[in-house]
Amino acid sequence: MNDKRVAVVIGAGLGGLSAAIRLAARGWQVAVYDGSDYVGGKAGTMTRDGYRFDTGPSLVTMPGVFEDLFRVAGRDLADYVTLIPLPEVCRYFYPDGVSLSAWADEERFARELHERAGENPANLKRFLDYSSRIYSIAADMFLNRSLHEASSYVRFGFLASLLRLPGIDPLRTMAQSVERHFETPHARQLFERYATYNGSDPFQTPATLNIIPHVEYRGGAYAVEGGIHAIPRALEQLARELGVHIHRGERVEQITWRQDKRRRRVTGVSVNGAHVPAQAVVCNADVTIAYRDLLSEPDAPELLRYESLEPSSSALVFYWGVGRECPELSHHNIFFSRDYRSEFRQIFEEGVCPDDPTVYVNITSKSSPADAPDHGENWFVLVNAPYDNGQDWSAEAERVRKTALATISSRIGVDVEKHIETEAVMTPADIAERTSSYRGSLYGISSNSRTAAFLRHPNRSKRYHGLYFCGGSCHPGGGMPLVVSGGKIVSDLILHHEK
Ligand SMILES: Cc1cc2nc3c(=O)[nH]c(=O)nc-3n(C[C@H](O)[C@H](O)[C@H](O)COP(=O)(O)OP(=O)(O)OC[C@H]3O[C@@H](n4cnc5c(N)ncnc54)[C@H](O)[C@@H]3O)c2cc1C
Repeated sequence: MNDKRVAVVIGAGLGGLSAAIRLAARGWQVAVYDGSDYVGGKAGTMTRDGYRFDTGPSLVTMPGVFEDLFRVAGRDLADYVTLIPLPEVCRYFYPDGVSLSAWADEERFARELHERAGENPANLKRFLDYSSRIYSIAADMFLNRSLHEASSYVRFGFLASLLRLPGIDPLRTMAQSVERHFETPHARQLFERYATYNGSDPFQTPATLNIIPHVEYRGGAYAVEGGIHAIPRALEQLARELGVHIHRGERVEQITWRQDKRRRRVTGVSVNGAHVPAQAVVCNADVTIAYRDLLSEPDAPELLRYESLEPSSSALVFYWGVGRECPELSHHNIFFSRDYRSEFRQIFEEGVCPDDPTVYVNITSKSSPADAPDHGENWFVLVNAPYDNGQDWSAEAERVRKTALATISSRIGVDVEKHIETEAVMTPADIAERTSSYRGSLYGISSNSRTAAFLRHPNRSKRYHGLYFCGGSCHPGGGMPLVVSGGKIVSDLILHHEK
């Protein structure tokens, strides 16, 4: 008789695959169902006329999180995925004609900030030391465990971190702190940008988010050979090697449960009208899908609470096959707006795309030449946008496309539009529809308040025993390394509670 414990994972996003791998490595029998015909969820891929594009994430940080996942399964990440360290983390273009490179080498970066923007070179080290301090206090506490389990709070390390909590700078905003650390508008805008790494506003989000530059400069920024989508593909391969059954193109219709005395106990899921029994169900789909569609509980207090929180920002993404090589650009490029404050006001307060948006251009063919024909480059062009609230996205896309083209073309001195050979666009409404993400938000709820970290949906349901959540819409939040950590938190909880 097979006495293995059985888990079903709803969704083959990075969080779901991470949970599935960890449970399978601990002897569980695991099945993953995804409604799409590919794995990776938001980290998808598409090919058009010889150009390959990643559809979602473009930057890898915290490689240790991925290495750890492979290590748990007795494997080596390097045998599955080639990470390429980026010596030039990002190239920045400012409206006043200044351009500069953020180098991975700290001294070179400090020199560059000084020579190109007039920033005191000592400020970079001082700021990164402060960022590293936040990381040393907050990372384990917020990224590696649930904030909703009493057991987390009685660990010595957790208590020690709680005592050092003022060190994570929770009372100032990110922008206030950045302005204290840097003297020039160029350096300030560069470091305020890190709020967008989890879809937040630097003028509202707590300075705790200044943790991110530590991750990027001291932990390293990486490209992936073959693009970001190589990561979910590698996780799929690893999961299958561990015996996980991955069902693509099979949407879970319901999470099933029975009433046991005073509590509800999850019994499995239904797919294509058939019941699939399980002791534990991990929902990697957005939490709104879980309550509204899979548990048919449109009035669940958890759902109403979640819907009352502010979603993170979304994006308008243009995928351009550009039939020209552009040595003016690097792997990651940012074209800053003139007025950052008004840009974020338009996104978060007015709910419209900015008149003068900051434009991000990612070109994976710079490090993976097979991603584009010999004569061209695959441009992933992203502009931060408000979450979907019924805006007229085709009009917004047309307007933003024009502005983005004008901004890039004038700053690099190339008429980019003339060279676009193929193109596609993804709006916040498309993101919502294709990845089942609430209002098309990229990272679940925003971090625009001091309490946001504690308001994210918990990883274990208290009302439905046996139901667990991981992914961008719950703790510890969105972004590739965070959802992979979420898979670890969930598998630890399952191993503890489902004995
Ligand atoms: C445009 C864009 C740019 C981004 N840039 C970055 C970046 O540079 N760096 C970074 O770290 N992060 C970035 N992110 C965020 C990152 O992609 C996400 O946080 C992360 O990939 C989300 O993973 P997840 O585990 O939450 O699953 P998701 O990717 O949200 O996948 C959930 C899966 O659940 C499936 N599903 C839903 N309902 C059901 C059901 N009923 N039955 C079966 N399956 C179901 C969906 O099909 C989907 O595949 C970006 C996201 C986007 C969209």
